[in-house]
Amino acid sequence: MSRDYIGAIDQGTTSSRFVVFDRACRVVASAQKEHKQIFPNPGWVEHDPEEIIINTGQVIRQALEQAGISGGDLAAIGVTNQRETTVAWDPKTGKAYCNAIVWQDTRTAAISDALKAKHGGELFWDKCGLPVSTYFSGTKMKWMLDNVADVRQAAKDGRLMFGTIDTWLIWRLSGGPKGGAHVTDATNASRTLLMDIAATKWDQGMLDVFGIDAAWLPEIRSSSEVYCHCDPAGPLGADTPISGILGDQQAALCGQCCFEPGQAKNTYGTGCFLLMNTGKDLVHSKHGMLTTVAYSDPVHGVHYALEGSIAVAGSLIQWLRDNLMFFNNAPEVEELARTVKDNGGVYFVPAFSGLFAPHWDNTARGLMIGLTHYVNRGHIARAALEAVAFQTWEVMRAMAEDAGKPLAELKVDGGMVENDLLMQFQSDLLSLPVSKPVIKETTVLGAAFAAGLAVGFWPDKEAVCGLVSLEKTWTPNMNEQTRNQAVNGWLRAVEKSRGWIR
Ligand code: ADP
Repeated sequence: MSRDYIGAIDQGTTSSRFVVFDRACRVVASAQKEHKQIFPNPGWVEHDPEEIIINTGQVIRQALEQAGISGGDLAAIGVTNQRETTVAWDPKTGKAYCNAIVWQDTRTAAISDALKAKHGGELFWDKCGLPVSTYFSGTKMKWMLDNVADVRQAAKDGRLMFGTIDTWLIWRLSGGPKGGAHVTDATNASRTLLMDIAATKWDQGMLDVFGIDAAWLPEIRSSSEVYCHCDPAGPLGADTPISGILGDQQAALCGQCCFEPGQAKNTYGTGCFLLMNTGKDLVHSKHGMLTTVAYSDPVHGVHYALEGSIAVAGSLIQWLRDNLMFFNNAPEVEELARTVKDNGGVYFVPAFSGLFAPHWDNTARGLMIGLTHYVNRGHIARAALEAVAFQTWEVMRAMAEDAGKPLAELKVDGGMVENDLLMQFQSDLLSLPVSKPVIKETTVLGAAFAAGLAVGFWPDKEAVCGLVSLEKTWTPNMNEQTRNQAVNGWLRAVEKSRGWIR
């Protein structure tokens, strides 16, 4: 047993992965497996919790084999997970009562509306830092209690455990019915609508609002400490400590080493998730940002973040590819955009399903404006890329106002950061350096950091951050007048997109 490695599970929306890192943060082995997306009704999205357990076991075994090591060679493992997705199970049999309800699932719209009508939205913003929404776990638990007979009966019989995916995986990995640990961390708990975000404890008032008994919920622990050990009969084959838990976006924040207040990361995937560390300050947004726990550890306590989500980013490039057939592969958007020298006066507001942060406007719909005879496909491709940067600029501006702290730089990750034109324009607009790291796997790396720091595999945050190097930094190169013009054009276009749906 060398204990020279750290393992991390990344249980995501579409797949489960296990990655083995060495002390220098190099990826030694990695295995990944997709799971089924189950759509039983319009707006419903489910995962089979047992399939997730099986797949996670498989990828753990595969990666260990690839690395030529055993579970005993891992000093610890960490877990990062798709957030908010909720599982209900029987602690006696270890089996789930129904499929997991996934974060994207909107079946709880009526529950959310009713809660908002009865209690007012402010209660939830004040206590939890969140709006009442189908997005968060509390509404999903309530739906299960209201609609799944087995769950209702289990609640009466004292045979109910609830959890997000981190909790489900760790309970099973640590022995399940044979004394598995029923735990979560504050980042995941901060997405349930059940946690007092200031105290990082389940809030009795919120539990009453949702009709949930604290006994069904996991214990809220920090993001970096030894919670339990793996069952040697499980896929690790050893009693490896489990010592890190972080929701996926928070894990990316840590994997990007945004440990100081004011540091921010943006993940450019299908949509964008921008998180900014606000340190010990619990900032309640005045601009539609969510307040969330960034991470917590037993030594430094709880650190908070503001989070802004943008619904349409990479999916706009997919739309140009699939609906307008502009190109065959997403990366070709850059070639097309480079056939022109600027956007030709075109602004593209991709409010395909309304506008998210900072506007939260359901009445908006997508538009392209500024069209003339001069405009060609290149300008439209360019306007689409610019739209992603403009939306990020709006969220960053709102966050800076909320936090009252200047931003020093933006760390970036996700599929779209391979697009040089976009990243340069982003840096120009923000008037800030924009950097991407060598290790693209920021999410899984964050979970590895949390686990490794807890067991002394790495001595401190400074040591781990010293291991993370940047692959590229884009520096701003746009004069103020050009930037102001661009931003004004965008803001006017956004105004035009609003109020379309009556
Ligand atoms: P997710 O994790 O949300 O699935 P990824 O981080 O894998 O997303 O990024 C994929 C998204 O990035 C897709 O929507 C795709 O259109 C977009 N994308 C990938 N490469 C590029 C590129 N070179 N330029 C612009 N967009 C890209």
